[in-house]
Amino acid sequence: MKNLLLLAFLIVQSCNTETNEHAGHWSYQGETGPEHWDEIEQQSDCNGVLQSPINIIDLDAVNDNTLDTLHIHYSNKTKINDVRNNGHTIQYDFDKGDYITLEDIRYDLAQIHFHEPAEHTLNGVRFPLEMHMVHLGPGNKIAVFAILAEEGAPSAPFDFLENYLPIQAGEKKQINSHFDLMQILPESKAYYTYEGSLTTPPCTEGVRWFVLKNPITISVGQVELLQKIMPLNNYRQTQPLNGRKIRCLKTILSGLKSE
Ligand SMILES: [Zn+2]
Repeated sequence: MKNLLLLAFLIVQSCNTETNEHAGHWSYQGETGPEHWDEIEQQSDCNGVLQSPINIIDLDAVNDNTLDTLHIHYSNKTKINDVRNNGHTIQYDFDKGDYITLEDIRYDLAQIHFHEPAEHTLNGVRFPLEMHMVHLGPGNKIAVFAILAEEGAPSAPFDFLENYLPIQAGEKKQINSHFDLMQILPESKAYYTYEGSLTTPPCTEGVRWFVLKNPITISVGQVELLQKIMPLNNYRQTQPLNGRKIRCLKTILSGLKSE
């Protein structure tokens, strides 16, 4: 009897893992790969015309001096709550505290996660890694910073984040430590911006993208640590622009406003 109970408990547990961690239907290859996302998620925007990621061609981007510098309010007092491997990416969830403002509206940083290699390409070049910093505004509006990383000198903030790895698919670890996200951004806050979508199902449109023009550097080992525990090539192919204009603010060194 005892054994039976134990068995029942195990079965319930494994079912829970499946549903909780939405070990989702979709993936990055084969019959559940990106070409099939719109069939798998029929209510999604995945077959929309304003999708992400895109290839950014610097010469075609409109240098728009009416664009505002980025208003970033990241604090070293903000805590990372946890890190999870959801089977699609490695995601760090943040407590409330860090935010940006766009046209005086506050967007709270919710989480950061990674794609290896990068999703956005710059002049056709694909970088080894891309970090997405996801901010949520009123009415579930979404604004994402995309930070491209190239291989070079190791990044100290990455070392801190990767201290909590490896972590297996479906697993979550509490962190509950302060982290200054400002440290991870490139010095120059020059950026490209356009209207796009989430790059994973449901590929929701209406997302404001800010792709920082200058990459950060991380070491080969730091890329590999993430690569080993994420699905192979967890990126979506670049999507057609369909008439969208990419605007950029690229003549500034440090686009930070002191407020
Ligand atoms: Zn992403």
